Amino acid sequence: MKDRIILFGGTFDPVHLGHTTVAGFACEQIGADEVVFIPAKRSPHKNVFPVASGACRVEMLMLAVAGNAKFSVSSCELERPDPSYTFETVSMFAGRYGPKAQLYWLVGTDAVGDLCRWHRVERVLDICNLCVMYRAGYPEPDFSRLSCLGAERVEKLSKNAIATPLVDISSTEIRRKFAAAEDVTGLLSPAVLDYIEKNGLYR
Ligand code: ATP
Repeated sequence: MKDRIILFGGTFDPVHLGHTTVAGFACEQIGADEVVFIPAKRSPHKNVFPVASGACRVEMLMLAVAGNAKFSVSSCELERPDPSYTFETVSMFAGRYGPKAQLYWLVGTDAVGDLCRWHRVERVLDICNLCVMYRAGYPEPDFSRLSCLGAERVEKLSKNAIATPLVDISSTEIRRKFAAAEDVTGLLSPAVLDYIEKNGLYR
């Protein structure tokens, strides 16, 4: 039986070494059995649709996670109507794994400011452990402005924060580099880079 399951949602447009590095670190810190990468059809917090199709983002994720036996990919959010609400995904996994499993949801520090606007965020925080990971280019997470969530949830959030290594990579910067034909060495796994080039993505 799996006890500790990490869910890692994002647009992954494309998945990069920042994602896999912090997910691996969080997995060790938590002592998790599995990390499930969950590409969103469209993030409710981003105004734009992903550039790559859902199918391409899943294929890139499969290539990126192939070397880690604890990593897997779920297309559950791509199969639902958009936008992708974390509440629905966490509820689905809670039902699948049962009450004994502990669920964790990873987000980068850049997401903290949006938390109070998340759909049913109180339930998300109650059903799972929402873990805020440090991110290069952002200050350390500040939970003091989240009084909308109540003191207990804010305390839980700050206890669950993970001081992940700072990896200064973003999908936006990678897409910009591809469009400008700049070097992306060291930002993506070689297999993902190969896939992007073969499929002519992000030109
Ligand atoms: P974009 O630049 O298109 O907004 P992104 O690089 O932020 O993309 P997402 O797929 O949106 O990538 O990220 C999924 C989750 O991973 C988010 O919670 C984000 O904060 C987190 N994340 C992404 N990159 C990093 C990183 N380098 N370090 C820590 N967290 C990260």
